[in-house]
Order: sequence, then C-alpha cells, then structure tokens
Amino acid sequence: MKSSQTRTATQEKQQPPKVRVPQHALKKTVNKFTRDYEAIIGIETHVQLSTLTKAFYCCPYNYGSQPNTGICAICMGLPGALPVLNSKVIEFAVKLGLALNCKLSLNSKFDRKQYFYPDLPKGYQISQFDIPIATGGYIDLDIPLEFGGGHRKFGITRVHMEEDAGKLLHSGNGAQVDLNRAGVPLLEIVSEPDMRTGIEAAEYAAELQRVVRYLGISNGNMQEGSLRCDVNVSIRPIGQPEFGRKVEIKKLNSFSSINRAIDFEISRQAQLHSQGQGDQIVQETRLWEEDAQKTVTMRKKEGLSDYRYSLNQTSLKLFSLRNMLITFTTLCQNFLKRSVVAEYFDATLSSGADLKLAANWIMGDIAAYMKNEKLSINEIKLTPKELGELIASIKGGTISGKIGKEINDPVEIGKMIDKVISENPKQLEQYRGGKTKLQSFFAGQEQQTARWRNILKSESFAEFSILSSYNTLHHFD
Ligand SMILES: [Zn+2]
Repeated sequence: MKSSQTRTATQEKQQPPKVRVPQHALKKTVNKFTRDYEAIIGIETHVQLSTLTKAFYCCPYNYGSQPNTGICAICMGLPGALPVLNSKVIEFAVKLGLALNCKLSLNSKFDRKQYFYPDLPKGYQISQFDIPIATGGYIDLDIPLEFGGGHRKFGITRVHMEEDAGKLLHSGNGAQVDLNRAGVPLLEIVSEPDMRTGIEAAEYAAELQRVVRYLGISNGNMQEGSLRCDVNVSIRPIGQPEFGRKVEIKKLNSFSSINRAIDFEISRQAQLHSQGQGDQIVQETRLWEEDAQKTVTMRKKEGLSDYRYSLNQTSLKLFSLRNMLITFTTLCQNFLKRSVVAEYFDATLSSGADLKLAANWIMGDIAAYMKNEKLSINEIKLTPKELGELIASIKGGTISGKIGKEINDPVEIGKMIDKVISENPKQLEQYRGGKTKLQSFFAGQEQQTARWRNILKSESFAEFSILSSYNTLHHFD
C-alpha cells in the first residue's frame, strides 16, 4: 500500500474528458488488436530541483514570476560570464542516484549539447552525455490490487544533471520567450524499456514523484512542470525479439494521462499492424490531446546526430564521497523499507479485514490512541489479527459496537478498543458506512520521512568538500 502515500496513478482524480470517448468501444479495440502484441515502454523524466538558485549560483527561480525578471549574464551565457556550479545540484543528484539504487560515477563531467532554439539563447545546454552521475539502478514497486496487483522491478538506465531551457509563449503577436526558467537545474531519469502497460508506466512515474518528494529535492508537481514525463512506446508481435519502431509521446501532465495516452498508443499501433499497415508507424514525437483523448503527430523525430555534443569540457571529481555514501545508502534502504504502520495495515488486511475499515481504524482511533499513550504501533496490545476479527464482526453485524467493547475488555485487546468504541459511537457508524480517509492514513509514514530528512541535513553531507572543483566549469576553451 505504499503507493497510497501521495496519489497513486490510479487513485488520481480522473477529470472527465470534455469530449466523450466511447470507452467500451475503445476497450473492445484494445482487446481485439492488442492480444497478439507486446508493448515496450520506456520513460524519460525531467525533475526540476528545488534549489534556492539556478544551477550556476546566479538568479533565484520562482515559478510564476513575471517573465524575464529572474535572468542575468550567467544564466544567459553572455560573453565573459563565469558561472560556478551550485553544489546542491550534485548533492541532490547523488541522493536521487542512491535512492534509485544506482551506481555513482565518482569521476563525472559536464558536456555541452548544441541547442538551437530561442528558449536557450546561448545556443547550448549544459548536460551530461557519456559519463552521467548515476547509472544502472532500479525502482521496485507494487501495482495496486485493483489493477491486478503484483510486484514489478523497473530498471533505471541513468540519472544525469542538466539545465532547463526557458519557455516559448505563443500568442496572437507571434512567439514570445520567458527565460526565467533557463538555467534551472534538472535531473533527467531515463528508465530501461521495462514497462508493458499504461498502468505500469503511470505507477513508475508516481513512485518517482514520491521518491523526489521524500528526498526533498523537488516538489514533483506535474502541473507546474516540476516533473515531466516523455514516454517511448513501441509494440512487437509476441515472441519477436527485436523492438518495433518507437513513438515518443510528450506533454503528459498527470499520471492518468500517462496511463491513457500509452494505452491509446498501444491500441493505435496494434491496429495498424493487424491491418497490414505497420509501415505507417514512424519514429516521431506525438502529443497527447487531453480533450480528444488521443495522440497526434507533433513532429518527425530527429536522430541523436542532430543534437551534437561537445565532450570532455569540464571534469567533476567527487572527493570524499565514499564515507558519505555508506551512511547515506543505509539511510536510504531503511527509509525505502515500508513503514511499520504500513506493515501493520497489510497484516490486518491479510487477516481478511475490509480495506477501508482497516484504514479508518488504524489512522483514526488507533493513531490517536498511540499518540495519547506515546506508544508505537509495535507496542500496542491489539494485534493485526485481532483488529481484523473485530472489524469483520462489526461489519458482518455479528456484534454491535457496544458488544465489541465487551469482547475486547478481557485481555488481549485492552483498553484501546474500549476507548474507541465507547467514546466514538458516531464514528463507528461512519466506519460501518464505509467512510474513507485513506489519504491521511500514511500520516505516520510522513513523520518517519521528516525524521529521515533531518538526519540527512545534520550529518551526511557535512563532508561535501567538492565545490572547489567546480570553479572551472565554464573554462571550456
Ligand atoms: Zn542568472
């Protein structure tokens, strides 16, 4: 259930599409055409880092501020500007790399990527090409039960640092550019092509959002563009080892749009294939149109050769990183383990308890009891099995709340349930009515997160004495 921390992709509120799509007709198509094909999905995610200043210690960045009020010679790359890398960018990249189980490159570097669009007027983007800061990781997650459940492990190819471009605003007067965002630090996370369905991709993105929020490196807000996903989708006949031609989908600004855009695209490609028109699937960039609930061609894809890189420009040496890594890795592992409250919850469910009622009991009255009595969930007398039985009895109408009190009194359940039931008859009625408060269930896990963050602030990064090595960043030539 860890995916309930924020919104899971699948619990996310789904806005009704403005244009009605005959959903069952679409489903039928999916079933008819996709049966013989397997989809291969990879995701590139850009995460905007919540540093106080841009990647090169110049202007602050505030989302939504007046256009072109947060720019200077350094982020514009004007002649003579000598930027210094913001060490927080490295720190955040290291945190994310470790949280995603990656191997860090202790010697890394920045490269210039040619970039000929007006939203980055200096003509290049500082990025990482052949030696990204982190490589070869993975994300572990559980697919929600309502979508078939099951455990998945998705590979992470690489995490690299780069700077963001500005924004082009198209209006009646033509295009205008807002450069406030130019130079804001990003981490790009490239997945292995390990996902097979829209749900898997959406859950992967939701997990990434949780991780960056836990780490405190980004607000992860998709609507503001702080977390942006581009997905690559191809299909192949089941059993064929080669990949099909892949299509990239951009402008996916919610988990549910990731899910629906991918499923639409799989269906579109499968339909073309099965009608003998597989050659009409071309390598291109498509946009997801939320209103029409379909993908449309944006532009034919440039090859990698169109983005020329200048290599070996600036080397980074991550001094004295090793000790920090050991501490940090342990912290990450502990953190990423599911919280004890979540384990208690799972155990309650596996004893057969109703999901909503169990969540209400645990995050409501049991949480309040634990707080009053200053107990952790491991210290309370009520076992998950007993709670499950109690819930089953109340739900099944075998016992009323009042009798529930009596059977609790004797030994094992203790005074907690007394208190719960005698003081909260109204809430008990609500429990029976199935009132849900699942979202706040993980309040306990939030506390754990806060504690973990404090540790990180206080100790682990004290050793970071790497800043001095970045001063040469723009001495390229
Ligand atoms: Zn600046």
